[in-house]
Amino acid sequence: RIGPVIDELGALFAEAGHELALVGGPVRDAMLGRQHNDLDFTTSARPDDTERILKKWGDGTWDMGRDFGTIGCRKGPWQVEVTTYRSETYDPASRNPDVSFGDSLAGDLVRRDFTVNAMAVRLPGREVVDLYGGVVDLATRVIRTPGTPESSFSDDPLRMMRAARFAAQLGFDVAPEVVAAMTEMADRIAIISAERVRDELVKLVTAPYPRKGLTLLVDTGLAERVLPELPALQLERDEHHRHKDVYEHTLTVLEQTMDLEKRLPGGGPDFVARFAALMHDVGKPRTRRFVDDGTVTFHHHDVVGAKLTRKRMQALKFSNADIDAVAHLVELHLRFHGYGSGEWTDSAVRRYVRDAGDQLDRLHLLTRADCTTRNRRKAERLWRTYDALEERIDRLAADEELAALRPALDGNQIMAILDL
Ligand code: ATP
Ligand code: MG
Repeated sequence: RIGPVIDELGALFAEAGHELALVGGPVRDAMLGRQHNDLDFTTSARPDDTERILKKWGDGTWDMGRDFGTIGCRKGPWQVEVTTYRSETYDPASRNPDVSFGDSLAGDLVRRDFTVNAMAVRLPGREVVDLYGGVVDLATRVIRTPGTPESSFSDDPLRMMRAARFAAQLGFDVAPEVVAAMTEMADRIAIISAERVRDELVKLVTAPYPRKGLTLLVDTGLAERVLPELPALQLERDEHHRHKDVYEHTLTVLEQTMDLEKRLPGGGPDFVARFAALMHDVGKPRTRRFVDDGTVTFHHHDVVGAKLTRKRMQALKFSNADIDAVAHLVELHLRFHGYGSGEWTDSAVRRYVRDAGDQLDRLHLLTRADCTTRNRRKAERLWRTYDALEERIDRLAADEELAALRPALDGNQIMAILDL
């Protein structure tokens, strides 16, 4: 429990004549009954003083960015970050935060993104400081800005992405006036670096409620700027050809992927699998054709989809490893559909495994998650067919392992065979 640790640190800072308060994420999460080992503090001490105190207390300190006022420290299971009070002003041209140190807790809290993140616990003594109604917003499960959303987002447009991210992580609603400001100011996200947008997107996609965050991005128009392939999936809605709504299908596949994730070796939220689910059909809008009777068909959208995925992920500055993994899954996600009709030969099964390479576990997930159809029986049949394919893959692998265990010929046998 965090009580003893925060009291201990609070006492040390007080002895040295400095204020210290637990702040942001850990306060929010503790109030939600979720305690973790990452503790963020804010202090009146300047970085050199903070470092001196933490050096005496912890197992090791490091510089997280002295210019920004943050010193990190580890002690046992605790990961601590202490940041000097800040009062940020923004360079109107670049909108990069221009950091200057502040001298009050209130001044530090006012520049924070959302009311639920702008609470502090002053130490020692554990006095809760909630100047903007964060407790009420936690209880009513709503994301709100401390001041007007317009001025907050104009100071730092990344906060619009963060609103969607926290909605996805906490399952909260975003207040209507905040949604309105996001919709009005969505264009401003263009001045934020791709890396910062990417980091929020990753957190949103791997959160417990990604549908919530993604819906917000699409509805406010932010997705149009950061992930346009997603809103593009909203094709015509049509009573008779409901399958045309690829967007809704995509969100369902993402949720099915989440349900299946436990089967992965890691077990936990898997960004690559989830992002592949999100992107698996992005080739469809480009490749659709209308047949005479009004039916829509899609041609070879796997290759086009993989290409669009690569382009988008490159623009968002993802690592090559992530780009390769996701694009690979998008490209392969239709391969299985050749299996049900004509049985595959062993070498076709081997090729499937070889082509999937180190993405095989995720391909199993994505392909199964994609077996969604309004027709339950059809979906179940597809799952059984995939079960059969997976069993065959396992059997072939077992055979190959046995073959590898077979004793090699000894020297005399080789001599005999070669007639030497
Ligand atoms: P997690 O670490 O789980 O992602 P968190 O709440 O700690 O969640 P961080 O991104 O680590 O979120 O930020 C820590 C705190 O700093 C936030 O709770 C918030 O108070 C403040 N903060 C971070 N980024 C911004 C920003 N762009 N604008 C305003 N305040 C911010
Ligand atoms: Mg944090």
